[in-house]
Amino acid sequence: VEKLLSGKKILIMGAANKRSIAWGCAQAMLDNGAELIFTYQNERLKKSLLRLVSNEERLVECDVSKDESIAQAFATISEKFGKIDGIVHAIAFAKKDELAGDIMNSSREGYALAQDISAYSLIAVAKYAIKLLKNPASIVTLTYFGSERAIPNYNVMGVAKAALEANVRYLARDMAKYGVRVNAISAGAVKTLAVTGVKDHGELLRISEERTVDGKSVTTKEIGGTAAFLVSDLSTGVVGDTIYVDKGVHLI
Ligand code: NAD
Repeated sequence: VEKLLSGKKILIMGAANKRSIAWGCAQAMLDNGAELIFTYQNERLKKSLLRLVSNEERLVECDVSKDESIAQAFATISEKFGKIDGIVHAIAFAKKDELAGDIMNSSREGYALAQDISAYSLIAVAKYAIKLLKNPASIVTLTYFGSERAIPNYNVMGVAKAALEANVRYLARDMAKYGVRVNAISAGAVKTLAVTGVKDHGELLRISEERTVDGKSVTTKEIGGTAAFLVSDLSTGVVGDTIYVDKGVHLI
């Protein structure tokens, strides 16, 4: 039977384990008939990902802090799989000591690192992916409400997410000539490895859940559902946007 994403090849970047938002996206896309390829940051994360995806052929190394690694990853993907229909970019990083206390205490290096991995990496990925993406194609990234509001301890990552959302708009403008759409999902807080870097993340997760319309946090599968929509042809009119998938937390 024909499904929403039948015949679509999607690259998933940032699946570390079964709690990862990238993994929720992968599940929603598999359910809808997509063929998936995954990138992992390093050997340690490859081992972790192999517990979820047994077909090692479909796993490609990509450390977004290095241009050579991104170039190599896209060369490998092109060689093995040919052209692709979409990319999910679910990658961010900041040092633990930057995700605590007053933002005045952030360091120049810590600020730059958060920007590099969490915001610039979308541009770097887009740059190397252009030749590999079909026309039409779709890129989806993951952001958080800390880009718009001053969330406790989120600090440099909030600033990086603001930059990421701006990158989405500029990339959407400039990739349109290649038939590539670019959008972001502003996801509600979910307990993943990345969140545990934020000081008092337990409190952040508790308050976020409390502020949903029904008292239940969004699931990674629900976030994945919107990602599946955004890489599908149902969303061809959605360009350069940030869509909340947070069970209404941003309303209150
Ligand atoms: P996660 O820890 O499961 O995923 C983060 C991923 O980033 C990991 O797979 C890690 O390997 C990857 N990564 C970090 N540095 C990298 C590098 N140099 N090269 C390649 N990959 C690198 O956590 P997650 O919460 O699923 O995070 C995915 C995305 O969702 C992030 O952008 C995060 O900011 C965003 N997000 C998370 C939440 C939340 O509450 N968890 C909410 C909104 C948005």
